[in-house]
Amino acid sequence: MKTITKDKIRFGFDASFEPVLTINPGETVCFETQDCYAEQIDYDKKEFSLLDMKRNNPVTGPLCVNDAEPGDVLKVEIQDIIPEDHGSMCVRLGCGVYEVEGCHCRRFPIRDGVIFFDEGVEIPVRPMIGVIGTCPATPCDTQSPGPHGGNLDIRDLGIGSTIFLPVSVPGALLAIGDCHAVQGDGETAICAMEMSAKVIVKVDLIKGGTDIPTPFIETKDAIFTTHADRSLDAASVTAARKMHRYLIRRTGLTDAQASMLLSLVGNLRISQVVNPLKGCVMEFPKKYL
Ligand code: CA
Ligand code: CA
Repeated sequence: MKTITKDKIRFGFDASFEPVLTINPGETVCFETQDCYAEQIDYDKKEFSLLDMKRNNPVTGPLCVNDAEPGDVLKVEIQDIIPEDHGSMCVRLGCGVYEVEGCHCRRFPIRDGVIFFDEGVEIPVRPMIGVIGTCPATPCDTQSPGPHGGNLDIRDLGIGSTIFLPVSVPGALLAIGDCHAVQGDGETAICAMEMSAKVIVKVDLIKGGTDIPTPFIETKDAIFTTHADRSLDAASVTAARKMHRYLIRRTGLTDAQASMLLSLVGNLRISQVVNPLKGCVMEFPKKYL
């Protein structure tokens, strides 16, 4: 399998960045990713002042996909996410929703699929990707989610899920980083269990695009529309309306029927409230499609 090693990192999505690997559609690639701190928390309780926060959220890549042109859609199937042996977190006042005294940079062991948190608390890993995106026409950083994907922090982006992303520049220029060993909805303390990981993805191309409203996620049991905005109100309404329009197109339900069905079995969820744009997803069970 072709691999992009974790020294090939960038701190943005920019079409001027030289691709580090070029593949044909349908190939499988391993992205070795660094955690969101660029692996600077190299021991437990490291002093926050020693971290260079300009090195936040590195992404591995970019990957060029042959034949990908603006208007196409990239289909990225997440086949595996293999954690390293520890995760890191950093919490401090002013970041996240909680009132926390001081700055706390921590490291926790991960072994045999279990995170060993404090006080004997053990949490099963549920690995996921925080940042995954194609390059937008206008360069951007890796801090915010947007139409290109980016810092989505959607906990459903785990093993076995597929994400559909827009192609905005030739080659698509896919990049991945910021993996989490586990994350709750909201990512409320500003970070998840941040980890370096090996991410194995199969990358396909849908020429001429689809009617899927990207970024769009499919798991074994559900589909998800997504939206990010400055306010949660706007993010939630737009994510829900994207699913409503998609259901009408895909199923032939009337607008009234689709709205009723979504109100019955759809779940409008907060994905994160801590990035520059806040994110919501509308989750719909595939068994009703
Ligand atoms: Ca993130
Ligand atoms: Ca993160």
